Amino acid sequence: MKPRVLKGIVETRTALAGAAGLGLVPTMGALHDGHGRLIEAARRESAVVVTSIFVNPTQFNQASDYEQYPRDLAADVEFCAARGVDFVFAPEAAEMYPDPPLTTVEVAQIGDGLCGRYRPGHFRGVATVVAKLFHIIQPERAYFGEKDAQQLALIRRMTADLNMPVEIVPVPTVRDASGLAISSRNRRLNPRERAAAPVLYQALSAAAARVAAGETDPDKVKAVALEILGCEPLIRVEYLELVDPERMQAVERISGPVRAAAAMWLGETRLIDNVLCSPPK
Ligand code: AMP
Repeated sequence: MKPRVLKGIVETRTALAGAAGLGLVPTMGALHDGHGRLIEAARRESAVVVTSIFVNPTQFNQASDYEQYPRDLAADVEFCAARGVDFVFAPEAAEMYPDPPLTTVEVAQIGDGLCGRYRPGHFRGVATVVAKLFHIIQPERAYFGEKDAQQLALIRRMTADLNMPVEIVPVPTVRDASGLAISSRNRRLNPRERAAAPVLYQALSAAAARVAAGETDPDKVKAVALEILGCEPLIRVEYLELVDPERMQAVERISGPVRAAAAMWLGETRLIDNVLCSPPK
């Protein structure tokens, strides 16, 4: 069965009115197996599954990045149909933002470092659009990938702080056989960049191994990962940090689980990834 595609907010509220056990998977489309895993989790746990497909202009810092973002609604609807999605909410930007919003959601601290430092305003855009989606769709549960760990931590905190009646469900990162986290941006890589890209996960995994072996100095752990990344001349590291998994702040000493999180550039393409690192018991 094909999902019903909803484009208007009023139409969506009417279609979903009274639906119990609603699971929402927010996406920007160009759906791949990473999104697929979120949808499958939602399908297992929810009576009604809604996938939103919205390339949110307010979370892009560069107009060119927004314009170039891949869009193929017909293919995405097919993807959703194959996974038993009931509704696809795919509004136009003018439907979501009839006027530039004067009200936005800002989550302090969590959004400041890592990607927030290099993409000013990005997380304000993310938090605001997710809050809007929650108000429009009113899901019981919403599914987010650990691939975007900072986004996940931020949405969890927003939901708790603002008493939004939504359970946030984390889904582990889906990787290809090389270890590379699946992302719609991977398709922008040329063959040489694509061959270099798995080094990011290798570096983060090496960091996790060092933490598992008992290293407590974050600088020493970072050095291991940076050395691996440094062997690949095509890679430009934007950041690599060890952060506490809730606040996403850099730690001074490793005394519990931390996330090794990094962003890097391969040519014109920016890739992010992270790995949870647990010290020995
Ligand atoms: P996006 O369409 O890139 O905004 O992603 C929509 C959702 O899918 C977010 O919650 C992402 O964290 C999640 N996601 C994207 N790629 C992956 C992946 N490789 N593994 C798990 N979740 C993912």
